[in-house]
Amino acid sequence: MFRLSGVTKRYPGGEGLGPVDLDVPAGRTLCVIGPSGSGKSTLLRLLLGLVRADRGSVRFEGREVPGEDVLALRRRMGYVVQGGGLFPHLTAQGNAALLARHLGWDEARLGERLADLCALVRLPPETLSRHPRQLSGGQAQRVSLMRALVLDPAVLLLDEPLGALDPVTRHELRGDLREAFRRLQKTVVVVTHDLAEAVALGDRLLILRDGRVAQQGAPGEVLASPADEFVARFVGAWRDSLPGAGGEA
Ligand code: ADP
Ligand code: MG
Repeated sequence: MFRLSGVTKRYPGGEGLGPVDLDVPAGRTLCVIGPSGSGKSTLLRLLLGLVRADRGSVRFEGREVPGEDVLALRRRMGYVVQGGGLFPHLTAQGNAALLARHLGWDEARLGERLADLCALVRLPPETLSRHPRQLSGGQAQRVSLMRALVLDPAVLLLDEPLGALDPVTRHELRGDLREAFRRLQKTVVVVTHDLAEAVALGDRLLILRDGRVAQQGAPGEVLASPADEFVARFVGAWRDSLPGAGGEA
């Protein structure tokens, strides 16, 4: 679905990402993990074509990103920015419907789509009339997800969808995301800084450190054989967070 070859992006301060080589297969969920500042959001923006690589190439379905038709590309990719990015002056419904309204969908089609999406992301339909400040953190993330999915994109890109939530909500939303990804069978790239989340959500993991790939592979592979000391520390922290950790294997 995506193929990155020798992709480098440097910001004026000298930080950024790369060089990175990466294949994102269709219909699977890739989790991108790494500490703050390791380049996770930059990687998503490169996939979306919001940021242009200094070197190397980003391809989506064989075509260079960003290509000539950025808008057509944007419709094929649903994006949830870090923090959710809901417009405060629009209701939940206004936010979720934004792209469909822009394309001139009639109200009947839109109503049906929003009802389906509420069921998928488990948002109570009566909350659609509220403004973002009247939503809980978990509900706001569900609305952001609806907004990203409204045009039924081929790809879903989520930047820390579980960040800034309390632990109970986090856990609930994590389960609901996993179920939604399973039902949608889309190509999903999820950014997180939490290995437990990545293992729960991802078919594959990509671990970033200082803009470079520290390791990529199936969760089982990464957990069983961390590539270096850095990944081993991540894995160790994850093991410590398991129920019953600190004693028997
Ligand atoms: P992450 O999402 O993993 O926290 P980012 O991709 O946002 O990391 O950022 C990677 C690095 O690039 C960080 O050191 C960050 O400070 C820097 N960076 C990100 N965006 C910009 C920007 N627009 N201008 C300058 N530096 C940036
Ligand atoms: Mg980020």
